[in-house]
Amino acid sequence: MATAPPADALEAATCFRCGDPGRLEFTARPFGVRRCPDCDIVFISPRLDLDGRGALYDDAGYFEGSVYSGAGDDDEGGLATFWQRRWASGRLDTLARYRGQPVDTADGRLLEVGCAYGLFAARALARGWDVAAMDVSAAGVAATSARLGIDVHHGLLDDAPFAPSSFDVVAAWDVLEHVPDPGVFLARVHDLLVPGGTVALSLPNVASLPARSLRTRWWTLRPDEHIWHFSPETLAATLADAGFTRIALTTSPLTAGNLGRLDSMLAMATRPA
Ligand SMILES: [Zn+2]
Repeated sequence: MATAPPADALEAATCFRCGDPGRLEFTARPFGVRRCPDCDIVFISPRLDLDGRGALYDDAGYFEGSVYSGAGDDDEGGLATFWQRRWASGRLDTLARYRGQPVDTADGRLLEVGCAYGLFAARALARGWDVAAMDVSAAGVAATSARLGIDVHHGLLDDAPFAPSSFDVVAAWDVLEHVPDPGVFLARVHDLLVPGGTVALSLPNVASLPARSLRTRWWTLRPDEHIWHFSPETLAATLADAGFTRIALTTSPLTAGNLGRLDSMLAMATRPA
């Protein structure tokens, strides 16, 4: 961050699974990186408070310069757009294989939480999914709405106007590390899925070599906005806590939906029928 936030914009946090204040692993001023001694969840405390984090996403330029930039047309160039296209197609392929469905044609209702500028949502729509989308960024909501011609919810999942059991798939790419409480978030996703429905996630892997070796210099630490960090083991445990089964997880940077990402993972899991 260019400037340190004021001390009154910081708050203490505890492990969302068990309430433990965690042990300090290292400091990335003004933030602390802590690990729960029981759950092994890594989290930021002190961290920006909800208003401080919300202000990040209210910034109209939030996605600019990130892998989720590319507000322009799908076919325009740009490295970020290139990667995003590869990941969107790869993630849809992985989703189809996980669900035992044909790769080219989809049939069902898909919600994307954290749609950014709507590139994945547009690809899903093109494959035949009936798509709903939402984001906390007003700029992302406006761009997705214009691109897809659908209403896009602006806000958090907690206040999203969706009925229980209304989606076959809920996808949240690079979202879980941002949410106020990942356990509450996944319980809500479980509730929104039909029995047999699929949750699809990508997120940073705190057990990856870059994370473990670079620590404060790890490019995905970003402690202002990434307030929870998972390993494959802690993610699987958190998904199981929320009632999910058939957890399939990959950290391979050779998987199309995770291509070139040395410090990320891709996961799918099922709400049991
Ligand atoms: Zn814990």
